[in-house]
Amino acid sequence: MAVVPAATRSRLWRGVIEEFRDRLPVSSTTPVVTLREGGTPLLPAPWLSEQTGCDVHLKVEGVNPTGSFKDRGMTVAVSKAVEQGAEAVVCASTGNTSASAAAYAVRAGLRPIVLLPDGKISGPKLAQAVVHGGIIASVEGNFDDCLRLARELADTYPVALVNSVNAFRLAGQKTAAFEVVDDLGDAPDVHVLPVGNAGNISAYWMGYREYAADAGDVPGPATRRPRMWGFQAAGAAPFVHGGPVSSPETVASAIRIGNPASWDLAIAARDESGGLIDAMTDEQILAAQQELSGREGLFVEPASAAGVAGLLHYSRTGRLDGGQRIVVTVTGHGLKDVDTASAYYGEIRPYVVPADASAAAAALGLA
Ligand SMILES: *Cc1c(COP(=O)(O)O)cnc(C)c1O
Repeated sequence: MAVVPAATRSRLWRGVIEEFRDRLPVSSTTPVVTLREGGTPLLPAPWLSEQTGCDVHLKVEGVNPTGSFKDRGMTVAVSKAVEQGAEAVVCASTGNTSASAAAYAVRAGLRPIVLLPDGKISGPKLAQAVVHGGIIASVEGNFDDCLRLARELADTYPVALVNSVNAFRLAGQKTAAFEVVDDLGDAPDVHVLPVGNAGNISAYWMGYREYAADAGDVPGPATRRPRMWGFQAAGAAPFVHGGPVSSPETVASAIRIGNPASWDLAIAARDESGGLIDAMTDEQILAAQQELSGREGLFVEPASAAGVAGLLHYSRTGRLDGGQRIVVTVTGHGLKDVDTASAYYGEIRPYVVPADASAAAAALGLA
């Protein structure tokens, strides 16, 4: 057998800036701050496909370096912050943005300043910000108050704001749509995802539009665009109510946002694509999280299951045509919020068995 040279065998993913450099706002002199984010699996979902009569795939963003899709935008935002001479980065966060910002900031030698809503962050996400050296402020207020404060700090002091109001974040996040098209050979019929601050739905739409656009005589990699279906949590559903919600409440902390920053872009994504934004209850979201764990073998955090909850709901109420190709983004890893997941199952009572095979087999139902 011929020996394959290592350079051909190995196709090492280089992170989203190097992989999509010509489609991102970087130049040859922009310092690239990367943890080799992106390149995430597009996983066929046999159970969801059977339930819906569609061809369903999951874009598994929890395998990014800090466990959520936020890394795609953070590599671009922090690289640009370094290029522009920032000394620190600041973000408001429901948890995952701060985890990502802290990791990329220390990688770049910048100080990460993290503004967290009082007492509303999951333990593991807070731990990530802490281990990456985050300078952490617990703000007396909710996420929306934190974001307003972050904007004011960035306006006045030498710190770069790395929330998704930072256009570089959205540019990085649009690469997920590129990967979907590259993997499937074209855009899906429907793209489903959770909606919180609404940066991600806006970024995917940007990516799909860009990939389907013609540049002169050169056709884009995609021949069409999907309909965008976004799902919020019922207690934090400003798009469904048609305006801001003052005290957002949901177990899905990553989408507990009452005044989304990317309001106009998300409305445009919904309307231009012929899509929708709807809300699911916490019960529906937690049930979907449990189905993903128990049927597809994929553990995601509660907010990540909102899209799956919506897809199942629309299918079960006869509002989803069969035979479509559907991609659902599951946004963050299940280990991000183990308390909510464990609570759903109630108290864990293991079988107590003697260290003896036949007795253990009898107790565990094997014999
Ligand atoms: C940030 C986040 C969301 C919400 O994304 P937006 O861009 O704010 O709409 C959903 N799920 C997870 C896990 C997140 O970290």
